[in-house]
Amino acid sequence: MLGWGMVNKEKSKEIRVRMAPSPTGNLHIGTVRTTLFNWLFARHHQATFIMRIEDTDRDRSKPEFEQNILEGLEWLGLSWDEFYRQSERVEIHKKYLTRLLEEKKAFWCYHTVEELEVEKEEQMKNKEAPRHICDHKYTIPEGRERQIIRLAVDEKADRAISFNDLIRGPIEFEGRTIGDLSLAKDEDTPLYNFAVVVDDVEMRISHVIRGEDHINNTPKQILIAEALGAVAPQFAHLPLILGSDRSKLSKRHGATMFDEYIQAGYLPAALINFLALLGWTPEGDQEVLSVEEIISKFELEKVHKSGAIFDNKKLNWISVQHLKKLSDEELAEKLMPFIEKHFGTQDKNLILKVVPSARERLEYLDQIKEFHYFFKKPEYDSELLVWKKSDKTGAKKALEEVQKILTDLGDEWGEATLKAELDKLAQEQFGGDRGAVYWPLRVALTGEKFSPDPISIVSVLTKEEVLNRISKAIR
Ligand code: GLU
Repeated sequence: MLGWGMVNKEKSKEIRVRMAPSPTGNLHIGTVRTTLFNWLFARHHQATFIMRIEDTDRDRSKPEFEQNILEGLEWLGLSWDEFYRQSERVEIHKKYLTRLLEEKKAFWCYHTVEELEVEKEEQMKNKEAPRHICDHKYTIPEGRERQIIRLAVDEKADRAISFNDLIRGPIEFEGRTIGDLSLAKDEDTPLYNFAVVVDDVEMRISHVIRGEDHINNTPKQILIAEALGAVAPQFAHLPLILGSDRSKLSKRHGATMFDEYIQAGYLPAALINFLALLGWTPEGDQEVLSVEEIISKFELEKVHKSGAIFDNKKLNWISVQHLKKLSDEELAEKLMPFIEKHFGTQDKNLILKVVPSARERLEYLDQIKEFHYFFKKPEYDSELLVWKKSDKTGAKKALEEVQKILTDLGDEWGEATLKAELDKLAQEQFGGDRGAVYWPLRVALTGEKFSPDPISIVSVLTKEEVLNRISKAIR
């Protein structure tokens, strides 16, 4: 007997899991989450995590999608111990297929697509599950062409196909509803359910952890495993990821492609933390966890059955918690590529000066682009310089006074001194209205209505630059 039947007892206890993405599109956030749960389960048990690219659909699979998927997962740090590509295993699939045909557990079906349509319509009319029941399993009808290879599923055996899902508990399907399921287009072209089972058997996969959209494939895969004389693995079907309105997560809820999260500049540890909580709650309800903590606490049995809501606000909150753990030096290092991209500078000293005021407001690294005024001169409409309770003349006067203060302060423009001087100015010349002084100064320096405190901006920019911006505003 081939496959698991041959595996000795010791070996069969070994935990081996796999992630089996189809490279028919770029890496989706849902795929990342499924990969993560497999990876966490493997790492928790110090077991083997296998990456298997399921590229048997030759029309839809593309090498660039494979590359995008693998690069994204590697970026996140989800490393694998073994790697396979399904398209390179066709000979193995063929070996099993030939055997099933020889043993008459599989057969060539000669029914055409049109005939199957008619059968299906009939079944729908009778409120039966649509399926194909072949009436000429081992006879070759004259003048007809072979269509597809199917598994001979005994219709008359009134049996239930059941499995104990590690997340959802016992699940049962009526055997009658399945029919003679298709295995391969021909000996060289296996279909999804067959290739998956052969590979899971050959790779001695102990647990299949995948999205709940695959539940309906599971009884078929159990029947195929049975026909191969193998024991099916244990199954764990993860709950769907839902958008805020509880419908299946889609583009209109926000980014679904993983690249967008990489480009936004979330830290891998923050994304792992957030995605791990999509359907899993650790003991003690702690929400901010390091990767090591997640690995040590992770349990498949604690994964919820109900859909997991993807909440962007929560992602940003978790991201902030992870950014807080970075020192200024580390944060500067991480910001560097984003600053270079937006402002074309790698000036480490400047970046280090920007970090303390920027970190207060950053939810993810790419938001550094909102701090453009640290890196280039602001552009704004001169109307914006005017404080709501004042006018043009007031704004001009305030800026001229600030200019004087800064010039007179010489090299002593510590934040506290400057603040005292500006407050005094507001008190003495603007009837105590601080806005009349701070507002035009903020706009002159940043071109923005909202920004960190203008005093902290003054201390990041050079004195020359500050005075330049103020003169320009006065003009
Ligand atoms: N290639 C399948 C998919 O991407 C894998 C399903 C499975 O894990 O069995 O959906």
